[in-house]
Amino acid sequence: MNKSDSERIAGILSHFGYEEITDEKDADLLIINTCSIRQLSADKAYSQLGVWGKRKKTHPDIKIGICGCVAQQDKASIRKRAPYVDLIFGTHNIYELPTLIKRIENGEKVCAITNNPVICNQNDFKIQRKDSVNAWIPIIEGCNNFCTYCVVPFTRGRERSRRPEEIIEEAKNIIKQGFKEITLLGQNVDSYGKDFNDKNITLANLLRELNKLEGEFRIRFVTSYPSDITDDLIDAVEECSKVCKYFHIPMQSGNSHILEEMNRHYTKQQYYEIVKKIRNRFPDVAITSDFIAGFPGETEEEFQDTLDAMEELELDYSNTAAYSPRAFTKAGKMTDKFLSEEVKYERLNRLNEKNREVCLKSNEKFVGKTLKVLVESKTEKDGKIILNSRADNNKIVHFEDETKDVGDFTNVKINKAQTWCLYGEPTV
Ligand code: SAH
Ligand code: SF4
Repeated sequence: MNKSDSERIAGILSHFGYEEITDEKDADLLIINTCSIRQLSADKAYSQLGVWGKRKKTHPDIKIGICGCVAQQDKASIRKRAPYVDLIFGTHNIYELPTLIKRIENGEKVCAITNNPVICNQNDFKIQRKDSVNAWIPIIEGCNNFCTYCVVPFTRGRERSRRPEEIIEEAKNIIKQGFKEITLLGQNVDSYGKDFNDKNITLANLLRELNKLEGEFRIRFVTSYPSDITDDLIDAVEECSKVCKYFHIPMQSGNSHILEEMNRHYTKQQYYEIVKKIRNRFPDVAITSDFIAGFPGETEEEFQDTLDAMEELELDYSNTAAYSPRAFTKAGKMTDKFLSEEVKYERLNRLNEKNREVCLKSNEKFVGKTLKVLVESKTEKDGKIILNSRADNNKIVHFEDETKDVGDFTNVKINKAQTWCLYGEPTV
């Protein structure tokens, strides 16, 4: 989501004559787009600001900006830590950037943070996409779920869906420009359309509409909230040939009591049933997840359930993190239940070890199978050109084929599996 926001910010800046440079020493304007999902990412943002602040002492004309979730969370108090900052703008203020930029160019110090997002047609603004093959389209912003550990509802606000017509128009433009993959983005994409009071506006129907667009391209969507995945969505994924058979469904914990403490609206059993339903429908599907180690009060037995879930569900890949207390959140206030850093990181290490084991096992299941892949980039190794591609189910596949290039779809027969990727050869 942040990367997508950055592409939108870069697009607006280019409209003002700003050009992206490769060496930040040449910059007139430096903006850091921040994430506050864990303390580590917020700390990194402040340390980067510190580096730029030092630079401003010898180059007083440079302008420094901070945006994203840390800006939304810390607001004007950022000035106390970093008085040299010229521009602070929140997650809801990106589309006000045209006026904000003019103000800082006139020497003003600006802090623009609101809790009420301006709803606008995002297609009125230019986007400077980083990639030439994959393009992101945010379809819903914000979150209403209030998981007890998570700061997102406080930094990104309540759920707001974009109009389907606007999304379809953006998708048409993307395809016209030659992109081969569209990823629909949202904190909880399954909630798409619920704020419109129109039962026909759903993620499933949006997929059906996008699937009708002409051209050779494929569609992904992230992130799905486990208990919000409807049968209609699963039907739509099956019906739509352009939609990838891939689901990212964060489980967070394999223990029902911890899930309740996290305010996740499903039990371990319900999550297992969802995975089973999806695996029964799509034989080569990949299911990935997120897990948190060391949630406040988590016992060793409860953590063990998480390790077991990863293994029993044969998850294809999981993002893992040690619990990090966040401002405003319920869990952040459970200080008497906090586990020591030592316990959290020891559990995280075991979780990562299990993840590697399970990923390798799941990759090995694809040896001997043929997967349809999209070439995303190429690298040279020992005088050979290696094509780096991604299968429909999101697995990374490396192979050699002189007849193919970045942006091509092709079939690859898998002949080797490693923990994080597959190797194969073109089929004839
Ligand atoms: N909307 C998605 C997740 C978005 S946040 C969902 O509901 O699943 C991305 C991931 O960051 C989460 O899945 C969670 O695993 C992790 N995360 C969020 N808050 C965290 C915290 N306080 N400490 C550690 N990890 C956290
Ligand atoms: Fe955070 Fe939960 Fe919303 Fe995901 S669903 S963004 S974890 S509050």
